[in-house]
Amino acid sequence: MSLSISDNLVVSMHYKLTDNEGNVLDDSTGNEPLAYLHGSKNIISGLESALAGKVEGDELQVKVAPKDGYGDVNPELIQTVPMEAFQGVEKVEEGMGFESQTPEGQIQRIVVKKVEGDEITIDGNHPLAGMELNFDVKIVEVREASDEEKEHGHVHGPGGHDH
Ligand code: ZN
Repeated sequence: MSLSISDNLVVSMHYKLTDNEGNVLDDSTGNEPLAYLHGSKNIISGLESALAGKVEGDELQVKVAPKDGYGDVNPELIQTVPMEAFQGVEKVEEGMGFESQTPEGQIQRIVVKKVEGDEITIDGNHPLAGMELNFDVKIVEVREASDEEKEHGHVHGPGGHDH
């Protein structure tokens, strides 16, 4: 009997993520399959909803729009700051990533987009914001979640949380 994917089941899958130009952004091949708890918003909504009802062994292609993925690019998260904001950093270069804390205490990843003299343009958007995402998915396993996993809202063990 194969379980069809629904809430409170643990799904393990291999996936390949490409952008619309065919560039591979992420690929689980050679790693542990990604495991998530269905219905707990562990993964982006566009992918989660496409997987509902599928079974172990299924392969599918899913195209996810930004609104069902990492959202649109928020222009307010792109800012120009003076070099002094990077105290303690020897050399600020394009492409560098930093973690900063928002006033609400959340960790935000920012990337340096541009360095122009003393002015640094930083971007706090998710790197995949504003992009259509193309997933090639193969479902490796579908199993019942443990009570503890349901309580925590995420998967334990291989491919999941380690605690
Ligand atoms: Zn846990």
